[in-house]
Amino acid sequence: MEPKTECPGTKPPKTERTAKAVIFGKKEKVADLFQLLESRYNKVTLTETEYELEQLAPERHAIGLAIMTDSFPVKLSAGLLHRVRRKLAPQNMICLSADIDHEKEKNLRSAGLIFLGSYRSFFAYAERIITQTQTDRNQKPMDQRKDSAMSLEKRLSGRFSTLRSRLKRTVFGLSAMVAEAVVRLIEISVGLVVTFLLFLPMLIVLAVRKLFTGTPVFSRHKVFGVAAKPITIQRFNTTATIFSGFPLFLELFTGRLALVGTAIREEKDGPGNAEDAYIKMIKPGIVSLWDIRRSTKIAHEGKAAIEWEYIFRKRPFYDLLLFLRAFPALLYQEQNRAPSPVFHLLGLDIDNITMEEAVSIMRKHLEQKKQCSIFFVNPDCLNKMVDDPDYFSTLQKGDYIFPDGIGLSIAGKLLQTPLRENINGTDMLPYLCTMASEDEKSLFLLGSKPGVAKTAAEKIKEAFDVTIAGTANGYFDHDTQSDTIIETINNSGASILLVAFGAPRQEKWIARYRGHLKPEILIGVGGLFDFYSGNINRAPEWMREIGLEWVYRIMQEPGRMWRRYIIGNPVFLYRVMKWKLFTRSMNP
Ligand code: UDP
Repeated sequence: MEPKTECPGTKPPKTERTAKAVIFGKKEKVADLFQLLESRYNKVTLTETEYELEQLAPERHAIGLAIMTDSFPVKLSAGLLHRVRRKLAPQNMICLSADIDHEKEKNLRSAGLIFLGSYRSFFAYAERIITQTQTDRNQKPMDQRKDSAMSLEKRLSGRFSTLRSRLKRTVFGLSAMVAEAVVRLIEISVGLVVTFLLFLPMLIVLAVRKLFTGTPVFSRHKVFGVAAKPITIQRFNTTATIFSGFPLFLELFTGRLALVGTAIREEKDGPGNAEDAYIKMIKPGIVSLWDIRRSTKIAHEGKAAIEWEYIFRKRPFYDLLLFLRAFPALLYQEQNRAPSPVFHLLGLDIDNITMEEAVSIMRKHLEQKKQCSIFFVNPDCLNKMVDDPDYFSTLQKGDYIFPDGIGLSIAGKLLQTPLRENINGTDMLPYLCTMASEDEKSLFLLGSKPGVAKTAAEKIKEAFDVTIAGTANGYFDHDTQSDTIIETINNSGASILLVAFGAPRQEKWIARYRGHLKPEILIGVGGLFDFYSGNINRAPEWMREIGLEWVYRIMQEPGRMWRRYIIGNPVFLYRVMKWKLFTRSMNP
């Protein structure tokens, strides 16, 4: 199949900006996709091999859409997508793969895709996705072509005209209707319960307050409803986020909000960009994946990526689980206070930044060839720090200290200094590797039991297409054999060194030897290699979303972890409260 330069028949209006599309895949596997794109773009280029990818001329801003498929001979990874993005700078990217597990999904979506799914699921939405992205970009609706994605799929599969397939469609349609009716029934029941048990009593309290103080009961908010329709909703006029949302449940009766859906988009946030077009079609919900992740400070991927993740997973059962997850998340919700850039806790200054900011800080150090040390602190580290002055001074000397774990978010809430994000090594690694791969920097993995760092290195390399300059285990004599290890690290040419000896050993080692180490970025990463090598499983996402990762870690290694969490967590909270009452209040 030769790439066509002209599209036959009546063409929808096209502008220079959206005129071209590129497909990455094998000719025989992507014929139908090619045909579909031909009807929407002036030129469609097929790229079948890595060599052809290298040969593509960089046409910045001229490529409207790049579609990567799993029939392309190079394994789909965030690294590959970033390579394409760097080379072609397409306005939109789509990735089609039949085999996507959750980790892969997150990893791929970090490349900023507008669609990630199987070939089949793409065709179910293709018309809408392509039209929406083009319409939004150009402000001109595309003409509807007779040869739509649906009819093309029918024609290609040749199955839609049979009685069996019609029956299947009818059954599918009916079951979808029943599912929708059940969801509405649940929403109205929840709406009734909340109205009588929570909304009305709170209404009475606030009405009495109004009588005495004149403070209005409600505050009005302009937001976007389903299909981006502007609507006005009411919240209770109170700073306690947990109460202010009760009036939203009345919207379940009007059907303007769903119980579970995409995040409610405020009108002041603007209409969003083309990549949000599909997200806007989904009804916003009182409960959303974005709000849940944000309350536990693990919304690192950014709003759009999390909304996409929700949309791809959306099923009535998934919504039900999300609804249940909203209850623990309520505990962590905070008032909308402006976060301060430094979180001062137990005498230590912790950097209160987002993952994105953390990555850009590291990038800057790499560019400027200026060395920095990065340490993560969780409640266990801070407990150790209180008993170990040497560790305390090591942390104080670190260039950046990042807050790790739900315990720190709770401490932030107790001290009324909201934490912006929970930044831990395991969550940071994909961002760090993507950045390293883009900037052609390499990593050295030092620590853990023999073989663990090596296995982790293989998995990291495969997942992020990043160069691993070398690995070494952490069981050597740190006093007498460090020189040899340092020589190996320096000779490897690595720019980023990850040290996994556990806290405080790793921080002290970095602080002691940083003057001899050549890598620009030195990070203490604790049990990271154990997670990435598959030696120890990480808690499932839903547990992390409700702040219970520590429970999973106790289940994994009860002998070693029970003291750290069962005793350590209450001790930490006690120390935080004591510090708040006696130390901070005296030296604010
Ligand atoms: N470790 C090491 N050298 C040592 C002691 C420990 O490399 O002398 C490794 C250990 O194998 C494990 C990591 O350090 O992989 C510590 O993990 P842990 O979960 O204790 O770290 P945390 O995340 O709690 O700081």
